[in-house]
Amino acid sequence: MFEAYVEKSVVEAAEGFFSTMAARGLEAMGLLAGRVFTWRGKRYAVAEDFVTAKNKASAVSVRFSEDGFGELVEKLEKTARKRKKIFVGWAHSHPGYGCFLSGTDVDTQRKYFPEPFHVAMVIDPLKRDGEGFMKRLYKLDERGYREASFAVIERARGSGFHG
Ligand SMILES: [Zn+2]
Repeated sequence: MFEAYVEKSVVEAAEGFFSTMAARGLEAMGLLAGRVFTWRGKRYAVAEDFVTAKNKASAVSVRFSEDGFGELVEKLEKTARKRKKIFVGWAHSHPGYGCFLSGTDVDTQRKYFPEPFHVAMVIDPLKRDGEGFMKRLYKLDERGYREASFAVIERARGSGFHG
């Protein structure tokens, strides 16, 4: 049992976006849309879409302005609702400085993603780690935050099985 599940397409979209931005020396962020499931009283999130602002410059700056983040969440919520999904968390990059949550990141998590199923994904697009880039998932806890286990879901493309 993992604490969260992330579709491979989400990881690929976030990694692609973050490494493009990192090549320009920029951090970036996006939201994770998906669904929540319950198993034995525990709720866990499945991240199915990586959603980010069309204006890439704003995707970078919103993270650093309190109001900007809320506006982005509101704006993107419409997109998520249309797809019958909710936000299960967010993802952002730490180009070259590894995975953790800063004090600002924890504040963001507390303000916008306070539910036990909510996650914060951090990717370092300048560090390789097994398949793809270094990435970690975090959840809030009494001490601040902790790392959470997650599985990457590989969904079959196309229809049926082909030899
Ligand atoms: Zn951060």
